[in-house]
Amino acid sequence: MDCDPPFDVHSWTSSTSSAPDASIDQVKGLKYWNSISSDVNGMLGGFPETSRIDLIGSSTFLAKLRRGKLGQPKDPLPKLARVADCGAGIGRITKGLLLKAADVVDVVEPVKKFTDKLIEELKDEEKSKDKGRLGEIVNLGLQDWTPEVGAYNVIWNQWCLGHLNDTQLVAYLRRCKDGLVAPSPASETDNTSFQGSWIVVKENVSKGGRNQDIYDDEDSSVTRSDDKFRRIFKEAGLRIVDTKLQSGFPKDLFPVRMYALRPE
Ligand code: SAH
Repeated sequence: MDCDPPFDVHSWTSSTSSAPDASIDQVKGLKYWNSISSDVNGMLGGFPETSRIDLIGSSTFLAKLRRGKLGQPKDPLPKLARVADCGAGIGRITKGLLLKAADVVDVVEPVKKFTDKLIEELKDEEKSKDKGRLGEIVNLGLQDWTPEVGAYNVIWNQWCLGHLNDTQLVAYLRRCKDGLVAPSPASETDNTSFQGSWIVVKENVSKGGRNQDIYDDEDSSVTRSDDKFRRIFKEAGLRIVDTKLQSGFPKDLFPVRMYALRPE
């Protein structure tokens, strides 16, 4: 099956037996990831060389979001208070992006051997004054995780949402919406007290036409179309405040799109 059936946003029984996301088997997905090496090569499916350009693209995207609030492009950005790296693997993004941007980074990742690797690596690293620290480590799939209400400036989701079916993804994103720091009335006049809050989704998108989601039997995940992501965000009560295609990746890979989301 290479084409999703028509998607009815009012009826979230979309996981019919013929929809690609109906084939997602989270037990099978975890079995796959537990067999993968705890290194960047494992995380990036044999394309470790894409990590650097990925992190540069993410860093630029996040900085633009944050500067949107704070005028002068050259001002150093203050640290965000607390962020989450979701489906974090060995913490490639935690180490390469989030610890530089935030005081505390919580990590959500179902495969314990990956988070053990991250903890071990950070123990060996020298403490640096301008780096944040690891907060909670949660070994759960995102379908089972509920962010603390009002806790996060950024909830970063990259290359892991294909393990949730459409219904689970909408429910998860609704919980993330509640997990974002809300602007206080005072922050309307005082720019410094509210640093902004966003859900970021950075995922492969299928190249096909409308509605073309692709099931991958190897890791039991789906690659969604841009169109499907947009409908899912809408259903979750989120609006896209910025979106960008990652540039500089090998042409034979799926396009990778970043979305910054806020409550509607
Ligand atoms: N985001 C990281 C890791 C990507 S690899 C990075 O970009 O480097 C995909 C990760 O998704 C793996 O660590 C895998 O264990 C995790 N994963 C698998 N099933 C998941 C689920 N149901 N919920 C959240 N993460 C899941």
